[in-house]
Amino acid sequence: MVLEQFSLQGKVAMVTGCNTGLGQAMALALAQAGADVIGVNRSAPEATQQQVQAAGRGFLDLRADLGDTGCISALMRDAVAWRGRLDILVNNAGIIRRADAIEFSERDWDDVIDVNLKSVFFLAQAAARQFIAQGGGGKIINVASMLSYQGGVRVPSYTAAKSGVLGLTKLMANEWAAKRINVNAIAPGYMETNNTAALRADEQRNTAILDRIPAGRWGVPDDLAGPVVFLASAASDYVHGSSLVVDGGWLAR
Ligand code: NAD
Repeated sequence: MVLEQFSLQGKVAMVTGCNTGLGQAMALALAQAGADVIGVNRSAPEATQQQVQAAGRGFLDLRADLGDTGCISALMRDAVAWRGRLDILVNNAGIIRRADAIEFSERDWDDVIDVNLKSVFFLAQAAARQFIAQGGGGKIINVASMLSYQGGVRVPSYTAAKSGVLGLTKLMANEWAAKRINVNAIAPGYMETNNTAALRADEQRNTAILDRIPAGRWGVPDDLAGPVVFLASAASDYVHGSSLVVDGGWLAR
């Protein structure tokens, strides 16, 4: 049955940065498809926890600052101790710093690369090790961006990190596909979250962005629900190293 392929019943999914925005919507979608959810956050993900539990699924609240990879081994140990396994990792946590490239600081470079690229790799590595140890494969979904494909302006470390995420997604897929581990990315377009609040507050940028989105609207977090369930489920078992672009047609222009 095609529909059964999308079920996540009995699966355990880790979602980083799920107390708000895209991570919150993806955590809820995975729960609605049947998965128990491990949220990795710096602060209490109260609303997400409540929504996941209202969907009838379990929620484990783990705290970590993904700006430092030193937390990853304890994170994975605590995650696996909960249900005895891990099946899905959504590498969603991310930050952005905006400044002209000519005066961009090393701090703004390092902070963004650490969260958006370094932790993404080492968390994926830890998840893959667990998938291999428990057998049966697993799913890794990295959150990319339009800036995985385009240069953008005033966001050099973000562009570097998100371009790197796309390359790493392909590398990890190449190395781990034969172990039944699917590594793919979701590349959201311009979505209404904290990440884009500054753009939406700037009337000129807001109009310019809206003018080039064929769908004629900003994306909303729920637009990622179907895509994340697809990439987390058996429905995508032969999809490796790809990026699912969810952008209202932005890149098609
Ligand atoms: P958001 O700011 O609402 O969410 C970011 C999440 O990452 C939050 O939960 C935050 O707490 C968490 N996070 C940040 N730094 C962390 C750290 N050091 N340790 C642990 N968690 C940390 O923004 P969002 O738009 O929901 O972003 C989610 C992801 O989507 C990010 O990777 C972002 O780059 C990406 N993205 C967003 C858009 C957009 O238009 N909003 C577009 C493309 C990609």
